[in-house]
Amino acid sequence: MNDVAPAGRHEILIVSEEVCEKLVGRAEAFKAVEGVFAAMARGEARNFPVVREALGHADALYGFKSGFDRAGMALGVKSGGYWPGNSARGLTNHQSSVLLFDPDTGRLKAVVGGNYLTAVRTAAASAVSIAHLARQDAKVLGIVGAGHQSAFQLRAAAEQRDFEKVVAWNRSPEKLESLVTVAGELGLSFEGVTLQELGRQADVIITITSSFEPLLRGEWIKPGAHIACMGTDTKGKQEVDAGLVATAGVFTDEVAQSITIGEAQHAVAAGLIEEADITPLGDVINGVHAGRKGDDEITLFDGTGVGLQDLAVADAAVRKASVEGRATLVRL
Ligand code: NAD
Repeated sequence: MNDVAPAGRHEILIVSEEVCEKLVGRAEAFKAVEGVFAAMARGEARNFPVVREALGHADALYGFKSGFDRAGMALGVKSGGYWPGNSARGLTNHQSSVLLFDPDTGRLKAVVGGNYLTAVRTAAASAVSIAHLARQDAKVLGIVGAGHQSAFQLRAAAEQRDFEKVVAWNRSPEKLESLVTVAGELGLSFEGVTLQELGRQADVIITITSSFEPLLRGEWIKPGAHIACMGTDTKGKQEVDAGLVATAGVFTDEVAQSITIGEAQHAVAAGLIEEADITPLGDVINGVHAGRKGDDEITLFDGTGVGLQDLAVADAAVRKASVEGRATLVRL
């Protein structure tokens, strides 16, 4: 038998959701996301225009996020979206898969489950922002939202500073139970609070909701706080008031997304800030921008979510799965 694949055929790797969960932990995701934010700011990695469309079927939103990281040699696309009827079938509403291609030949290299990776890379983005922008003496962590992503956010953030306490708010307070459990596992005290009280106590705040109106008001926030706005990733969504964005030092994963689909869209539309007022977090990682201006500045990270984050963690999964023999090889 001839083992050589016929012309045009080649082998690809399949990395399952289960293997991704085992191999890509918070440390790997942090490193991958920090690295790709830095590469984006150096102009070595580029996100391509996002496609997101209502299917007119199953109430679903479907789309592609793609890009190329020349520094990490990751080329690919995350495809998927939101199927609101899935939970009734015992499935996750957000569904995604990543395809990676060989940048030298364009041949498909790997197919990677994207659901777990999306959560871990989103949590890594806010964690990277906390690592580079939050005050070192931050003690109280505030979480706004208690949906699927929130526990990932809490775990990743908790590793960045010597936190003592979690304060949290959710539209339906009974859902806070999952965060109570995680805080307990992390040895942090927990208090369910109003949004105003959350602003009064928290040194670092993560917002991770699907809100379309401001939840946090500027006057509630402590001087020197760091806020990572992670829920706003679509036109019209909003988690904090535009005045807060206007007074904060604003950082983002990608400026083009921040002003169109991110938290800054409202402050920009109202003429309170301009594109030039927003700094890529990668500039801080690369040492090109100093980050926070003193202990009293409120810093805000507008985490819009970019395709290159997905490719970076998927690439990490493929590399590790290859080394450890955990990927399935398929001849295409
Ligand atoms: P989820 O559906 O599990 O939870 C949604 C959360 O938003 C819940 O806490 C819910 O109570 C809250 N919420 C919804 N509408 C609200 C409103 N009007 N006011 C206040 N709270 C409201 O979703 P998830 O998977 O946890 O994701 C949360 C959000 O983060 C989603 O909007 C999602 O699109 C976004 N997201 C962003 C990124 C990124 O990279 N920035 C990545 C993944 C998800």
